[in-house]
Amino acid sequence: MKNHERTVMRMQPMHIRTQTFEEVNLGYSKEEAMQEASRCLDCKHQPCVNGCPVGIDIPGFIKMVEQDRIDEAYRIIEASSCLPAVCGRVCPQETQCEAVCVRAIKGEPVAIGHLERYVADQYYMKHHNVESIKQKSIKVAVIGSGPAGLSFAHDVIKAGFQVDLYEALHTPGGVLSYGIPAFRLPKDVVKREVDTLIEQGVHLLTDVIIGKTLMLEDLHTMGYHAIFIGTGAGLPKFMNIPGEMLNGVYSANEFLTRINLMKAYDSTSETPIKRGKRVAVIGGGNVALDAARAARRLGADIVYLVYRRGMQEIPARHEEVEHALEEGIIFKLLTQVKEIIGDENGTVKAISCCEMILGEPDASGRRRPIENPKKIMVFNVDEVIMAIGTTPNPMIIQDHQTLQATSHGCLVVNQETNETTIPMIFAGGDVVTGSATVILAMEAGRKAAKVVIERIQGLT
Ligand SMILES: Cc1cc2nc3c(=O)[nH]c(=O)nc-3n(C[C@H](O)[C@H](O)[C@H](O)COP(=O)(O)OP(=O)(O)OC[C@H]3O[C@@H](n4cnc5c(N)ncnc54)[C@H](O)[C@@H]3O)c2cc1C
Repeated sequence: MKNHERTVMRMQPMHIRTQTFEEVNLGYSKEEAMQEASRCLDCKHQPCVNGCPVGIDIPGFIKMVEQDRIDEAYRIIEASSCLPAVCGRVCPQETQCEAVCVRAIKGEPVAIGHLERYVADQYYMKHHNVESIKQKSIKVAVIGSGPAGLSFAHDVIKAGFQVDLYEALHTPGGVLSYGIPAFRLPKDVVKREVDTLIEQGVHLLTDVIIGKTLMLEDLHTMGYHAIFIGTGAGLPKFMNIPGEMLNGVYSANEFLTRINLMKAYDSTSETPIKRGKRVAVIGGGNVALDAARAARRLGADIVYLVYRRGMQEIPARHEEVEHALEEGIIFKLLTQVKEIIGDENGTVKAISCCEMILGEPDASGRRRPIENPKKIMVFNVDEVIMAIGTTPNPMIIQDHQTLQATSHGCLVVNQETNETTIPMIFAGGDVVTGSATVILAMEAGRKAAKVVIERIQGLT
């Protein structure tokens, strides 16, 4: 039995890391990848494949890595996923494919995500150009170029239809571009995977807001046979506590977008951002961790992560929590912010918080946090970043009254087909589920694409 230990990925040294937005993880060498691949037990029942929402043939591609057959490995992954370099970096593998890896029963699972990233990076370095697929006269529109829209476009273009991809921002990629910082997901990695789709024939139209620049009705009259809405959940939530309007309070969305898309970290950038010295980030998900680590890189001496539950309940990826702790982020757990306190100029100077105690599990299965009003804590900070969640932007729903949405603003779709309440208009990703994960958005895009292709080809 192959029993050597999981191959650790090399990282940037700590003294460099907190000064730069360069990627922290450095990837595997060929030898490391082949060694890690050789740990795969090639189980008959392949639980990892079921653990992957888009069903990548994981043992299949890992076998190819073991034999140093990168092209074949890439083809296997690409049959199910158009974003392998992205997913290899940001998927929560520890709760998906790696969680069910048989090796995890007695030790460390195979590093599936690291191997996926290795294959995508190696393949890209070897080949730059991909063949364009001949277009047909059937036209399909995609609204939003995040993982859901990209995954949908990938499958539909492969079927030979024309795909027009409308994006509100000047840069495609959705959260991959404007949300996740470069030290976790370098922007050239996102660009090259989007570029691959464009080379395959997807027609990208940026700076077009559907619901404003063009209406859904316009797309109908433009003759699209089907429309896919993948507009995400980019509207930040706030807590409605005193002080949220003070100078120095950001939503994580705005904070990260300014950094990622407008290079606010660069002192020559025209779009500045406040560089707090003592920063509080409110929340415990990936977004909060990204904002906290970005604030540290912008020069903050103290960064508090204020989270109302405990370490066990923290929803962010394990690796990000580890990296944040290594980088000196101070976790204020079981702590709920009650008020943001300002100075005489209307600028943040402190937060007042209350201790929390964990009660019985709530509907999410996590223990419910209950306030202990007797224990109040005040932390002096000069910047507060709210990262307590987001909801879908209502613009697209307001554009079309028959497009049904839940009370949380999520689009209602048929669970089997991902079709909305309007025939041949489909939706998927965060706009349907509320903020979730890259791979689940991709899965929704694939599901809708399959139905669209079958419908158009007259198979159903
Ligand atoms: C900071 C941050 C970190 C995250 N980290 C992780 C992680 O590590 N791992 C993970 O799996 N998930 C992570 N997530 C969640 C993940 O990124 C999302 O679940 C995923 O991107 C959702 O994909 P989507 O395609 O549904 O939407 P999005 O990625 O939000 O893309 C939607 C796109 O639609 C565009 N759009 C919106 N409205 C319109 C309109 N009216 N017209 C035209 N275009 C429009 C938007 O500009 C955007 O480009 C993170 C999220 C954030 C914010």
